[in-house]
Amino acid sequence: MTRLLYQGLEGVADLSESLKRDPLIPEPGSLIPDEDPKLREECGVMAVYGHPDAARQVYLGLYALQHRGQESAGIATANGHHLSNIKGMGLVSEIFTEDVLAKLPGDLAIGHTRYSTTGDSALLNAQPIRVDSVKGLIAIAHNGNLVNLGNLREKLERAGAYFQTTSDSEIIVQLIAHSKATSLVDAIADSLGQVEGAFSIVMMTRDKVFAARDPRGFRPLSMGRIKNPDGPDTIVFASETCAFDLLRAEYEREVLPGELVMVSADGVTSRQYASGFEQTSCVFEHVYFARPDSRIFGRWVQESRDQMGRQLARESHVPADIIVPVPDSGVTAALGYAEEAGVPFRFGLIRNHYVGRTFIEPEQRVRDFGVKLKLNPVRNLLEGKRVILIDDSIIRGTTSRKIIRMVRGAGAKEVHLRISCPPTISPCFYGVDTPSKRDLIAANKSVEEIRQYIEADSLAYLSLHGLLQCCDDGPHGIQGSDYCTACYTGNYPTQWVDVEEILPARYPKADDVQLSLLGTT
Ligand code: SF4
Repeated sequence: MTRLLYQGLEGVADLSESLKRDPLIPEPGSLIPDEDPKLREECGVMAVYGHPDAARQVYLGLYALQHRGQESAGIATANGHHLSNIKGMGLVSEIFTEDVLAKLPGDLAIGHTRYSTTGDSALLNAQPIRVDSVKGLIAIAHNGNLVNLGNLREKLERAGAYFQTTSDSEIIVQLIAHSKATSLVDAIADSLGQVEGAFSIVMMTRDKVFAARDPRGFRPLSMGRIKNPDGPDTIVFASETCAFDLLRAEYEREVLPGELVMVSADGVTSRQYASGFEQTSCVFEHVYFARPDSRIFGRWVQESRDQMGRQLARESHVPADIIVPVPDSGVTAALGYAEEAGVPFRFGLIRNHYVGRTFIEPEQRVRDFGVKLKLNPVRNLLEGKRVILIDDSIIRGTTSRKIIRMVRGAGAKEVHLRISCPPTISPCFYGVDTPSKRDLIAANKSVEEIRQYIEADSLAYLSLHGLLQCCDDGPHGIQGSDYCTACYTGNYPTQWVDVEEILPARYPKADDVQLSLLGTT
């Protein structure tokens, strides 16, 4: 059930009672069995400055960013005097009804949609997080993962900080509150300089909005503008530019790695709070996370995925009758592949878009029920055909095997699998929920062993060199060398400080040692 938490002037109130589930709609049965889920992004963030209905603008933006996190969402607004904050468990559209949006007045707003990787899943860890400090009221929303949070937390607690949550985002706010810098913007710059890892953040006080990216630029964050002929323009920030489209905001530029942007009554100002770091933006955003209609790191995702498909065809094509994407994320790469190989593209697998996270269990246990609930083969397209399936990753291998069995069961003569990125061999510590190394099939098996396991006629991955070429914008944009590829190489761009802190509890100690040896420091 959706739960809401309201932080207004009167303090914190639980609004869950005001959003009771319709009694005619049955409670869900149980979780869909999915032992091999896709990798999940931690969060999406959004901010608006200078719009009379800022909460609704952020709501629309978060709606477009829902793919970046479905566990909880929140919006904080300010009107120059007061700061209100409502967050809840569930989808953006479930939490923010008309009644709820009406409780969020103001022309400044920030918002967040979350799938957690650190901190637990409780409502308390939903964002934005609001902290009242000597520097005034601050609300923060954060996408990414800090890797030195253990040290910082200890240091802050010794200095008297009282943490309301276990989320690493609160560490940034506490650092701001405890900074010796006298102005707020200096305190923010000072605190951002102390944290290491991946963060794209939006922050708000009663009358200012801030946006910043970590010095290596792991996660995307763009700035846009809604033109206003009768007054100052509205300034917006979002994890992905698809969030601008519903607002009719125009893309202006990226927030640069190590940049802190401030928007206030005096306009937009910017400072570089950190420099001298190599850019290592997450290449997996282009492979899978971001929407193809977004521009991230200054480059269109659709263009990258189309190129990945074409390059994959150049590297590993085999004779086939049809190219079939594993929907939805494999579609753009499959279109590129089909065009390059001159083989017809067909939607041979149909995704049920209305599957939630729960279902009413069938009376009899059905083999591979979770996958069958989500995907269904189009028998008349597949029967007697040599099929090339295009997908964006293999994590544990169990889902790929089920899909291949499904396509073969629908009559396909041959099933070849092509993956639009290299084998995933190492976990991510920068805001992506990855299983431990021991659960990543490519960390433990050769490509031929994986092929046998998933029961494909052939299997090929895109080469790392090919992938980086496909995401390269040339000398005037992001280049292949500006990406993090740690989950494909095991070479991590940050130091191995506090890695233990962010490993899942089940992660075995022995693997820590192995990973530490693999990592570059
Ligand atoms: S490790 Fe992989 S998923 Fe994580 S930031 Fe680097 S490229 Fe992205």
